[in-house]
Amino acid sequence: MPEQKRDYYEVLGVSKSASDDELKKAYRKLAKQYHPDLNPGDKEAEAKFKEVNEAYEVLSDKEKRAKYDQFGHAGVDPNFGAGGFGGGGFGFDMGDIDLGDIFGSFFGGGFGGGSSRRNNGPMKGETLRASVTISFEEAAFGCEKEITLNRTENCDTCKGTGCAPGTTAEVCPDCHGSGTIRIQRGGGAFTFATTTTCPKCGGKGKLIHQPCKDCGGSGSVRKQRKLTVKIPAGIDNGQAVSLRGQGGAGRNGGPAGDLLISVTVRPHEFFKRDGTSVYLEHPVTFLQATLGAELEIPTIDGKVKWTLPAGTQPGTTFRLRGKGIPSVNGRGRGDQYVTVKVQVPTSLTHEQKEALRAYGEAMGEIPPGPADSVKSFFDKRKKKK
Ligand SMILES: [Zn+2]
Ligand SMILES: [Zn+2]
Repeated sequence: MPEQKRDYYEVLGVSKSASDDELKKAYRKLAKQYHPDLNPGDKEAEAKFKEVNEAYEVLSDKEKRAKYDQFGHAGVDPNFGAGGFGGGGFGFDMGDIDLGDIFGSFFGGGFGGGSSRRNNGPMKGETLRASVTISFEEAAFGCEKEITLNRTENCDTCKGTGCAPGTTAEVCPDCHGSGTIRIQRGGGAFTFATTTTCPKCGGKGKLIHQPCKDCGGSGSVRKQRKLTVKIPAGIDNGQAVSLRGQGGAGRNGGPAGDLLISVTVRPHEFFKRDGTSVYLEHPVTFLQATLGAELEIPTIDGKVKWTLPAGTQPGTTFRLRGKGIPSVNGRGRGDQYVTVKVQVPTSLTHEQKEALRAYGEAMGEIPPGPADSVKSFFDKRKKKK
């Protein structure tokens, strides 16, 4: 019978009396060996990987292992009733696995050990989101912004318990506080159990007989809050500021969630930014570029003096050290890069043109006569109108 399943102990290469540690060790070794990420396209490795996982899934669970020992595959067949491998009641306990990233990609969310999580345990509150828009300079140097948000907070009157002052909740007698109950079906070798939300307490694990008047027994109230948010210097467009514990109230004594504030930075009229670097195009005249000049360059700190060397070519970029954006981690500042834009004059007087021609002749250049006559021809036509 080639289709018959291999013995789970044989699959893992351990004896029937193997301890939990031995099982885990054997499983880790084999799971790594046959992992699909490490054996791309290898169908045999994939099948082995599944087999190993299935074997460990059963043998690592005391109840299932006992059934397997007694009844063999029929006692624990995951395809029997429970909805197949990875289905309900067959969740992976991720706490047992520490194989690094290769497993993260394979198991994704589907196998997360969430199936058995009690839904009435302490739970972190929801993450709230808000957004602010700030100026280029505010992003560079940091600022404070006031935001308004609606969030759930623990009820002050009952301190989040949901019970009227002076009273306490009763532990649910049906689920003993777990919020879930197990229902057994079938019989003999084919008994299996499913876990479901306790109908008596609705999964809360407790019964409140005298609810708090202010929150109606929920333990939380909705409030509008104004918060002053410190935006750190150096923050960039699209980044977010996270404020721990400023989100929604936690449930059943869990911590409050976080508040995520996404930051939009308005573009600047002149400055451009990339990380901590600031870029600026600065106009200079032909004369300044040729003969050199003392310039005053705008920076986010104000104007700074800069000596433009004689003979600077158009498009030359120079750097102003430490005039960029402060690093958001507080480690130093970036630089400002200034690109020289040589401006070509567009309207010249007769005298200015003559001076330029004289310059051209001195440079051994033939004055652009024909082009000039064409231009003056158009000028004359304009004047006639
Ligand atoms: Zn209350
Ligand atoms: Zn209950």
